[in-house]
Amino acid sequence: MKDSYTHVVLGLGGLGSAACYWLSRRAGTDVLGIEQFELGHGRGESQDHSRIIRKTYHTVPYVRFAEQAYEAWGTVEEDSGEQLVLKTGELNFWPPKTTLDEAAYNESMAACGVPYDILDAAELRRRFPQFRFDGDIHAVYQPDGGLVGAIKANEAHRRLALRNGATLLDNMPVKQIRPVNGGYEISAGGRIFSAEKIVVAGGPWTNRLLAHFGLELPLKVTHEQVTYVDSPHLQEFSPDRFPVWIWMIHDNYYGFPVYGAAGVKIAKDRFSPTDTDSRGFDPDAGNERDVLRFLEDHIPRAAGPVLYTKTCLLTHTPDADFVLDRIPGHPNCVCAVGATHAFKFASVIGRTLSELLIDGQTPADISAFRFDRAALSLPGVWNLPES
Ligand SMILES: Cc1cc2nc3c(=O)[nH]c(=O)nc-3n(C[C@H](O)[C@H](O)[C@H](O)COP(=O)(O)OP(=O)(O)OC[C@H]3O[C@@H](n4cnc5c(N)ncnc54)[C@H](O)[C@@H]3O)c2cc1C
Repeated sequence: MKDSYTHVVLGLGGLGSAACYWLSRRAGTDVLGIEQFELGHGRGESQDHSRIIRKTYHTVPYVRFAEQAYEAWGTVEEDSGEQLVLKTGELNFWPPKTTLDEAAYNESMAACGVPYDILDAAELRRRFPQFRFDGDIHAVYQPDGGLVGAIKANEAHRRLALRNGATLLDNMPVKQIRPVNGGYEISAGGRIFSAEKIVVAGGPWTNRLLAHFGLELPLKVTHEQVTYVDSPHLQEFSPDRFPVWIWMIHDNYYGFPVYGAAGVKIAKDRFSPTDTDSRGFDPDAGNERDVLRFLEDHIPRAAGPVLYTKTCLLTHTPDADFVLDRIPGHPNCVCAVGATHAFKFASVIGRTLSELLIDGQTPADISAFRFDRAALSLPGVWNLPES
């Protein structure tokens, strides 16, 4: 195995695996990916059966980037021969007390020509009888929304990268990154590799990697969980009958049809602060009770015993926007931070990182994701509730 590469990707979760794939399409054997744990481990952010993909976003650049996300997944599907995106339709429920700006979502979609329907309570009941809401509720339905098969997609990115000649190493924690002769020396798992260009895709461990560049981002890491429920009426929640859905408030509930496991998947943001060393893996019983109560109240035929609950970490930026940029002072190094909602964009983020490193520029509008933006350099104004 060689020890010198043009491109070295640090971290092989959702974003790093995608970066390896897109780099390998153009740089083949000149790509090395390094992961600290086994490939496909569940300690980070990206390993579950499904993640929501949607075009419903609150700004035009996000809606455009989401459209590019579908296109990038299409390329991976073509290349792998596997279906990775499943369009189930997406229902966003807008409760009267929300602090989110519904008009911003609808206007951004309209500006990009993304179709959507506003459903009042009567229409909701007619089209989606699985849901039960009293009183003053309406929802926005967007037919392109759905899910990405996350575990499958991560495997596809890595498998295709290997097929293109990339080298992927697991159980190799990166311990040191040193600038040497215009490039970098990376120590990992007792070996030393040299790199001309680096992708930092460390998820919740990002700041440990950035410390080698003398940098730190104002990131917070929280503990989250998703629950699979053993519904007695599973067939009513199949992807062709039941859409992905989001309750549009800040610490929201969201859910999925049956996919990957024999249960209906539901989650409520936990936002429970933790760190990568002290985090536990036990589910929070209160959060489980909340999601079961939500099902009983609002999706009653999905309610049932818990099949299992899976915990994971989540990385936040103060403004909930990604970091997707060159690392200041290191024009040949780039960094991506998912900021709680990046899985749907994993492939297009990988493509964008590859363009920044190989072409020196990208056609994607990533101006909101700059490393040096005010929200990351001023004392943090956090969207995250204190707890
Ligand atoms: C419960 C939950 C639900 C979510 N739902 C959605 C959703 O519906 N839709 C959506 O779009 N997004 C969603 N997200 C967000 C999305 O999953 C994340 O933004 C995305 O997966 C982040 O991927 P990542 O590659 O940055 O992080 P990770 O997957 O954590 O990958 C980082 C990798 O870097 C490795 N690493 C770190 N340090 C080192 C080192 N020193 N040496 C070697 N390797 C290292 C880690 O081991 C890890 O494998 C959700 C996240 C969670 C937790």
